[in-house]
Order: sequence, then structure tokens, then C-alpha cells
Amino acid sequence: MIVVMEERATEAQIDAVIARLIELGMDVHRSSGATRTVLGVVGTGKIEKEMIEILDGVHEVLRISEPYKRASRSYHPEDTVVTIDDLRIGGDEVIVMAGPCSVESEKQILEAAHAVRDAGAVILRGGAFKPRTSPYSFQGLGKKGLQLLARAREETGLLIVTEAIDSEGVDLVAEVADIIQIGARNMQNYSLLKAAGRAKKPVLLKRGLAATITELLLSAEYLFAEGNRQVILCERGIRGFDPATRNVFDLTAIPVVHKLSHLPIVADPSHGTGLRDKVTPMARAAIAAGADGLLIEVHPHPERALSDGAQSLNPEQFSELMNQCRAIAEVIGRHVAAPAEV
Ligand code: PEP
Ligand code: MN
Repeated sequence: MIVVMEERATEAQIDAVIARLIELGMDVHRSSGATRTVLGVVGTGKIEKEMIEILDGVHEVLRISEPYKRASRSYHPEDTVVTIDDLRIGGDEVIVMAGPCSVESEKQILEAAHAVRDAGAVILRGGAFKPRTSPYSFQGLGKKGLQLLARAREETGLLIVTEAIDSEGVDLVAEVADIIQIGARNMQNYSLLKAAGRAKKPVLLKRGLAATITELLLSAEYLFAEGNRQVILCERGIRGFDPATRNVFDLTAIPVVHKLSHLPIVADPSHGTGLRDKVTPMARAAIAAGADGLLIEVHPHPERALSDGAQSLNPEQFSELMNQCRAIAEVIGRHVAAPAEV
């Protein structure tokens, strides 16, 4: 951390700032020029910059290291690869997770599971517990939905990613899920993050609707702090001012996260755009930008979906998306993981 003193700061103010930093356990190196004094401070991991900014005579406080640690690339230079059975998320392969927004019935989830598997997805998605904006919207089948997901895994061999919406529900979800999803609305639900951090399952952490990348990585840090290092990040679009799309799909987040963090990041162009015809172009772009995987909403009959029908692909459209994404992955020296034989 660097503390820049005001031009008119007095010796007494400078001494008081140095004394406070030492009291907080920091190492301070003073350098005084013709007009200003600058303090180089080492060991600031646990202090807030605001604690220093409020001191008399301080002009500005600059952090030189990221506020997150274990999630940062400087702490762990090699890419993290999250391994589940034979699947490696964050390596050379691009992993596709697909399925309906919500689990609606046995028929629907089994049809969806077979369709996405036939097209080449390796993970089935589907919410049993749904965090809906309106309390009157379909809230998911709950426990029954989890049982149906388990059934779909048995039939297809697909792994399951499904959402936990509160800390009390994490253990229940973890019994069935191969990956626990933390949704955008819950990215900063710290009790949920702590519970998911204690679960012995990988976590898919979605970026909040108005969260910066630093905030996303700080939420990942919560999972690390509880001992869970199997973290997969997800860019799912952020709030913009233009109603032309549901969200603004932030493609830049992919290379930005890859530079700042060692964690894999997957792209969700379904929630990212909210519009079916925009999903495939943005999926192609995400693979080209280096995404480690895709999360795509696919419904056997999107027009009858109980949630997110407008952004759900039908099985034919998804199959075409997969063909296009396979071709793009090859161009950048990767390949799309294929489902195992069952
Ligand atoms: C979902 O994946 O269906 C979902 C609710 O996504 P998000 O949390 O990104 O809105
Ligand atoms: Mn959805």
C-alpha cells in the first residue's frame, strides 16, 4: 500500500500516520520529496484502506496488491483444473453444461437430458430451487426436482449442476449435485458462500447482476477461506441501461478473469443475453475469447417452459451451437469434451 500525504501535511501529521500504521503491525518506509511525503507500507493484507484515508494529512491511499489472495493468479500462477471423475474443467477441454432453466417434470428433464447428451453436453443443468424475481413465479420442484436430476444422471451418465439458494439447503443440494451452483442474486450471500465453502463439492459461482470482477473474485475468496478450492466462475451478463437485451454479456470478463485469477471461467450467454437468437453467436464468441466452458439453457419445448423460455434453445438449435463451438475450439487449440459412453 502507498500512502500519499498532502502537500501541506505537517511533520506531526506524518508522524501520527506512521505511528498508526506501526500500531496496526505494518512496516513503513518513508520517502520525502521537495513537495510531498510518500509512505510505502508493507503487510497490509488485513487492513482497510479507509482506515488510513481518514487520518489527517493523508491525500490518497493506493493498494498495490489485489484485495483477494487465494483466488489471485499471483498467489497461484498455474491454472486451476477442477476435476470431477474424468472431466477436467479449466484444462484444454471446453466443457458444456446444458439443460432447462428449471426442472419441471420427470418427462421434461429426461427428454432434456437425452437431447443435450446426444448433442454432446457433459453436464446437465436444471434448477430444483429457483431464486425468482417475483414470489408468484414458479419456484421450482424443490427436493422432488433433485430426485429427478439424480434419475437423469442415472439414465444418461451426465454430471449434474444445480443451484443452492440458501445456506440451510446446501447439504441437501450437495447430496445430488456434482457441482453446486451459486446464482447471480446470491453471489454476495456470505452465509451461503461459507456453507458452500464447507461442502465437499465443486462450486459454480455466477457473477452478480451488478458485481465487479473484483467483487466476484472476493466471493470466490470466501469459498477458498472455508477450504473449498474447487471453484468455477461464471460470466452471466450484468445490468446495462439498454433494454435491447436482458443483460449485457461481458465477454471481456473472460480474459480479465484469466489474467487476474487461476480459476476456470465458463460463459452463460443464455442469461447473458436473454434472447434465444443471441445465444449461439455469443457462445461462439465466448469460446473464441477463451471460456473454459458454456452454460446453455435448453428445453425440449421452450414455448412451454415455466421459466426462461425466451432464452432457451430447442434441441436442434443446441445441436447446431455445439457443432459451431467445436469448430471454434479447434481453431484456438482446444476441443469440446465429449460425453462418455454409457
Ligand atoms: C439460472 O442459472 O437459471 C439462474 C437463475 O441464473 P442467474 O443466477 O445467473 O440469474
Ligand atoms: Mn434460467
